[in-house]
This record gives sequence, structure tokens and C-alpha cells, in this order.
Amino acid sequence: MEGKGKLIVISGFSGAGKGTVVKGLVEKYGYSLSVSATTRQPRPGEVDGREYYFKSVADFKNLIDYNGFIEWAQYVDNYYGTPRKFVEDELDAGRDVILEIEVQGAMNVKSQYPDAILIFITTPDRNTLEERLRGRGSEDDQTIAKRLKRAAEESESIDSYEYIVVNDDINTCIDMVNSVILSRKCAKENNLSFIAALKEDFRR
Ligand code: 5GP
Repeated sequence: MEGKGKLIVISGFSGAGKGTVVKGLVEKYGYSLSVSATTRQPRPGEVDGREYYFKSVADFKNLIDYNGFIEWAQYVDNYYGTPRKFVEDELDAGRDVILEIEVQGAMNVKSQYPDAILIFITTPDRNTLEERLRGRGSEDDQTIAKRLKRAAEESESIDSYEYIVVNDDINTCIDMVNSVILSRKCAKENNLSFIAALKEDFRR
């Protein structure tokens, strides 16, 4: 198999459970996870350096100027970016890295890393999404309405992704995403130099 690690981009609706899916992929299958930088305020329970690197707008802009991000985007009122060094080091070491980012970032990554794998996680339908958002019990009606509106907008971009995985049962979803990644890694196009070397080996 070809040497370098793969970039795996995971997006999905807020409430579709992509955070839990990503956590499962890291714990069960050992993927490496990129921690993003953001200018938004930490939510209760979030720890600097674990969920995000929390930055001031000035520090964030400074990092942009120094080419510190692979990609960055403005989402709602805040900036979010993928730190370059961690990702490049992990890929060079042959490890597969997951980025959990929104759609503009996903497109930006794909244009720089054409063999990145773009996966969209969704609920089976809109009602299930609404039920899950309500079931969390942590958000008021107005916030839930905002998230559903955003999900409606995001659903328009699903065609830009290469794979869509439905999160009905969480463990099935984690295994399906892993299968998608494995099958892509085994694709002929991803193994051209390996195939050439294997042929050469048999000719000798
Ligand atoms: P939240 O504020 O709910 O943690 O994240 C808001 C959105 O920003 C989510 O869709 C999340 O996937 C996305 N996001 C998180 N980190 C990054 C990043 O580094 N780059 C981009 N483009 N989006 C990100």
C-alpha cells in the first residue's frame, strides 16, 4: 500500500451525531483527530487543546498570515481553522487523520488534497434530526429552529461529498465509515506504485 496517511473529512448536520461517530472512529479504529482552532467561546465542559484551541481574533488572523492553517472558514459569527503542522506531521508519519469540519472547509481541503475522502453523516430524515435535537434537552425552541434551518441549507451541499453515511445506529455508523475509508484505501487508483512494484517483483 502507498506510504502516506490519508485525510478524512467528516461533515454533517448538527445533531446527526458526527461528534460521537468521530470519537468512536478514534477509540475503536485508532484514527488520528485534528483539533481545530476557533475564535468562539468555549462551551461548558470544553477544554482548550482538547475540543478546540480557543484563540482571540487577533491571534487567529496572525495564524492565517503565517500560513498556519490548511484551511479556515467563517461559520456563523466565528472563525474556525485546521492547524497545518499537526496534520502534515501525521500524514508524513503514515497516519490517517480525521478533520471534522463544515462544508466550505471540506471543499477547500479537497482542492489541495485531491485524494482526501469526503464523508457526510446524516440522520435518516429531518424528523429524526429534530427529535434528536429536542432529546438533548439542552437547547430552547429558537436554537433548535436555527439548527434545523442551517441543516436545511447544508443539505443542499451534500452532493459535494463522495460518501453519505446514515447514522441510525451509532455503532453501525462507526463501522460503516471505517469500511468506506478501508475500501477507498484499497482502490486501484490509490495503489498504482504498489501494483507496479509488485509486478516488477514477480518479473524478477
Ligand atoms: P461548533 O461551534 O458547533 O463546535 O462548530 C461549528 C461548525 O464548525 C461545525 O460544522 C464544525 O464541523 C465546523 N468546524 C470545526 N472546526 C473547523 C475547522 O477547523 N474548519 C472548518 N472549516 N470548520 C470547522
